Amino acid sequence: MKIFIEESALPFALSQEIMAKFPYEVIPSWEKFKWELLPEEELVSVGKRRLFLVNFKGEFLKHCPGTKNYLCCGYQIFHIGEGCPLDCSYCILQLYLNRPGLKLWANLLEDGFRRLIDFLDESKKRKSVIRIGTGEFTDSLALEAITGISEKLINLWLKYDPYGLLELKTKVYLPEGFYQKTKGTPKVIFAWSVNTEKIIAEEEKGTASLEARLKSALLAVKHGFSVAFHFDPMIYYEGAETEYPRVLEKILNLIPLKKIAWISLGTLRFPKPLKDIAQKRFPVSKIYSFEFVEGLDLKLRYFIEIRKKLYKTMANLIKSTEREVTYYFCMESERIWREVLAVNLHDFAGLKDLLDRTAKRLCSH
Ligand code: SF4
Repeated sequence: MKIFIEESALPFALSQEIMAKFPYEVIPSWEKFKWELLPEEELVSVGKRRLFLVNFKGEFLKHCPGTKNYLCCGYQIFHIGEGCPLDCSYCILQLYLNRPGLKLWANLLEDGFRRLIDFLDESKKRKSVIRIGTGEFTDSLALEAITGISEKLINLWLKYDPYGLLELKTKVYLPEGFYQKTKGTPKVIFAWSVNTEKIIAEEEKGTASLEARLKSALLAVKHGFSVAFHFDPMIYYEGAETEYPRVLEKILNLIPLKKIAWISLGTLRFPKPLKDIAQKRFPVSKIYSFEFVEGLDLKLRYFIEIRKKLYKTMANLIKSTEREVTYYFCMESERIWREVLAVNLHDFAGLKDLLDRTAKRLCSH
């Protein structure tokens, strides 16, 4: 990984820490960085090996963008940077980020943490429980060995003891030594996106195997943290209906249910232009050769019968454990909730309440 630091980002603590440990190059600014003249799809790959420390002027706290006309859960995002060194063929970041490269906000520990602490104080005063995560525009832990950001956030959580949960979403393996760096707390959730072995091997380049993700989850539990799992995106292929429930069964047999904050499910969905760039970058991937329908949010997704078929394979396992584990569909219609789980969840407030109840339970420990 090559590290570049903007001139104006040099004084910040995160830059100083990284400069003390790794070789780096100072650049006038990320915007003025001269990229090679390469096709867009190649630049995305080159950009995954370049980390830019940027003096960020934008908003550190955001509402999860959700998606229009589907049920969204009211999640907050703590924005630590953009881009991911891992390389999933379905990753929406290939499209969202208008310029290549991994960006990390150099002023995070000063400006970002200040903003976060104010927000945590406010919500504690209002007694309104919060759920916040860092894994929306990057993997929360893929760059941890360089940045130490998640460790710093856990320490902040331990110090301020907020009324709410911090979710760190990832697809990497975390060794025991990582968890030994801080105290454990149920208010911090280590969350793994999970998939079948076939999809992990074929579509999630650079990520840990399912076995390694589950081993990390067990270690997180052993050290006093909560865990979560996201079946997202579930991808349809011949045999998927039997393989997805096997993954869920494995999780439920291995991880103590009381330690699982939630498990979400969501099938493949993407904005139309992603297909073009992803097919150029991953010519052997078959996931885009399926037939899709345009949803109310203008994203392409499987026809509802296929989505239901995938979800229904998990329904028995869900029903048998739903008293102990919170399950939810990510960005799905109320029709899916009703027809797959026989749950009438009419609106955004219903889904938010469901997850807030879990958050309150974990905060009361
Ligand atoms: S791990 Fe997540 S953020 Fe990283 S490439 Fe895969 S989908 Fe994108």
